[in-house]
Amino acid sequence: MDLEKLQTTLDELRQPTYRFKQIKLAIYRDLKEEFDAIDNIPQALRQKLNQALPFDELTLKSEQKSRDGSGKNLCFTQDDLAIESVLIKHGDGSRTVCVSTEAGCQINCSFCATGHSGFKRVLTQYEIVEQVLWFARTLKTTGEKVTNVVFMGMGEPFLNYDNVRNAILLLNDKDGLNLGQRRISVSTSGIIPGIERFGDEDWQVNLAISLHAPSNGLRSQLMPINRTYPLEKLMSALDAYVAKTNRRLMIEYLLLGGTNDSTRNADALADLIHSYKEVLRLSVVNLITYNPTRDSDGQWDKFRAPRPGALRAFEEILTKREIAWTRRVSFGGDISGACGQLAGEVNSEE
Ligand code: SAH
Ligand code: SF4
Repeated sequence: MDLEKLQTTLDELRQPTYRFKQIKLAIYRDLKEEFDAIDNIPQALRQKLNQALPFDELTLKSEQKSRDGSGKNLCFTQDDLAIESVLIKHGDGSRTVCVSTEAGCQINCSFCATGHSGFKRVLTQYEIVEQVLWFARTLKTTGEKVTNVVFMGMGEPFLNYDNVRNAILLLNDKDGLNLGQRRISVSTSGIIPGIERFGDEDWQVNLAISLHAPSNGLRSQLMPINRTYPLEKLMSALDAYVAKTNRRLMIEYLLLGGTNDSTRNADALADLIHSYKEVLRLSVVNLITYNPTRDSDGQWDKFRAPRPGALRAFEEILTKREIAWTRRVSFGGDISGACGQLAGEVNSEE
């Protein structure tokens, strides 16, 4: 639901001011799926609203379930762009939705399916929040709830800052989904102006940085954005962010076998983190292993996952160098719902 359109429509229909909140609560708190299901507003009004505006911004095209209980939704915008979102079910009962912030992505990292699919446009705040709503509606049928939201799907959140910010506020809104700010995380490829703005926000939302390489040469090769915002400037911005907010920073490091997973790379990563004392104080390195993706010609990328031995050696060095780290367990690989595999793919049989 586009709440601005709703407000305009209610004004045009000369409705009392409380109607807006009534309908907002019905959609975001009670998870109603159509105007006709909102039974505390007059039936005549429901009919008028049905004619005046669409209830949903996105149409759910397909729901895929993974063996591990995760799920991937493929939705279409009203202008027919495909976007994907993922639900990750953790053993501890948490239910994390991974949302897309753009249809495609301008950054084009060499290992990422989203980047290869080209950029279409940024998503509105309502299109972003509705991806969470679709999963919340399904979970409700079994008495479950969305507990966390990560902005780690398709797109670069900080090239769509205002809409991402408004989506976060709507997710956090007491009259909305009422999700705690600490349960929301945003991941960026390293857009420095976005990191600075994020640090100025008066909130507790988590920040993750996709670092992936400890030197400019390697990082620029993997992530072209590094040519615009090189490592030393990025690290200084992150150090300032941690100093200012005193909030924990997640450093994502995607291990690509034979590319950035050597023990030398691990030492260089430790050196880099040790040179920025605020980052060192409050960051955790999250090791991600590569999920295979195809490029725009349908060819498999040139990368591969790290060998188990290389992964262990990398981890041992981080431990020895007193760098806090965790390993991300990837979900949904069998439905191409894992990190970096979201491409808005529409299968021909659908
Ligand atoms: N654009 C933002 C957020 C979305 S990407 C960003 O880049 O941070 C979410 C995470 O998935 C990033 O850390 C990204 O580097 C990682 N990723 C991309 N392609 C991947 C792949 N093929 N395998 C594993 N992780 C991947
Ligand atoms: Fe865009 Fe993130 Fe994929 Fe890079 S990893 S192309 S920034 S979505």
